[in-house]
Amino acid sequence: MSMPKIYRGRFAPSPTGPLHFGSLIAAVGSYLQAKHQQGEWLIRIDDIDPPREKKGAAIDILTTLEGFGFEWDSDVLYQSNKLQRYQEAVNDLIKQQLAYPCSCSKKSILKKTGQTEGEVVYPGFCRDKPLEKSPEYSIRLRCSSEHIHFDDTIQGKQAINLEKLKGDFVIQRRDHHFSYQLATGIDDAEQGITEVVRGADLLDCTACQLHVQRMLNLPSPHYCHLPVALNDAGQKLSKQSHATPIVTKNSVVLLYKALKFLGQKPPAHLMNANQEELWCWAKTHWRLDFVPKINPNIN
Ligand SMILES: [Zn+2]
Repeated sequence: MSMPKIYRGRFAPSPTGPLHFGSLIAAVGSYLQAKHQQGEWLIRIDDIDPPREKKGAAIDILTTLEGFGFEWDSDVLYQSNKLQRYQEAVNDLIKQQLAYPCSCSKKSILKKTGQTEGEVVYPGFCRDKPLEKSPEYSIRLRCSSEHIHFDDTIQGKQAINLEKLKGDFVIQRRDHHFSYQLATGIDDAEQGITEVVRGADLLDCTACQLHVQRMLNLPSPHYCHLPVALNDAGQKLSKQSHATPIVTKNSVVLLYKALKFLGQKPPAHLMNANQEELWCWAKTHWRLDFVPKINPNIN
C-alpha cells in the first residue's frame, strides 16, 4: 500500500520585479488551498532568465511575503541551482530523439509559415535535419497532434492540441538558458507538488509542462487556475503593465481585497483586524468552490 499523499502546493515567482496585487492573488490562493488542508506550501524562485531579472528582486519578494504573514515549509528552492539537472534532462531528451536542435530564426519561421507577429507556432522544420556545425540553435521538444487532457480544479476539463497551440516548443534557448516550460515541468514534479495553483494566464503553459513531464517519465500534479486581476484598462496586472508594488504596511487591506477577489466572504470587521486574525479566519474558512472562473471585477 502506498503512503497517503500529503497536499503540497507552491508559489513560484520570477525575480523580475516586486510583487504586485496580481502576484498576491496567486500567493494567497495557493497558500490557502494548501493550509486549509493542513498541507505544505513551498516557495520556488524561478530565476533562470538572467537577462529579465532585477538585482535584489528575489530578496525583496521573500521579505514582502514574510511581511504579509506567509509561512513556508522547507528552504526556498532557487532554480538557478538546478541548471545541471535541466541540462541532463535536455541531453536525455535529445538522446531519445524526443528533442532536437533548431536553427530557425523567428523571422524565417514567420516567413515560411505565413504567420503574422505574435506567438509563433513551430511546425517542426528541423525535426529530421542532421545537427549543424553552428552552435547557434535552440533545442525544441517534439509534440504531437494528440490532445493533452487535464481537469483543472476551477477551469474544468481541458483538451489541448499542443501541435496547433505551440508546435514543437523551445526547451533550451539559443543563448543556452532553459525555458520556463522545461524548468517548471521538472521542478513541480520533482518537488512532489500535488496541485499547482496559479493565475489563469498560465493555463496555456500547462499543456507544455504536462508534455515535459510525460516525456521525462515524471509524475504530474493537478492544476488549478485562478482568475487573473486586471487593471482599469483591462490588462493583466504585471511588471510590463507597471502594476503597483504591494507594501507590507497595507498588508491587511490588501489581503482582505485578495480574499474578496477570490470570492471569499470575510466579515467586514476583519478589514480592521490584525494580520494574524485575518489569516486565521482565511485558513479556516477557505472555500475553493467560491472562487470565480474569471475576473470578478471588484474594486
Ligand atoms: Zn528549425
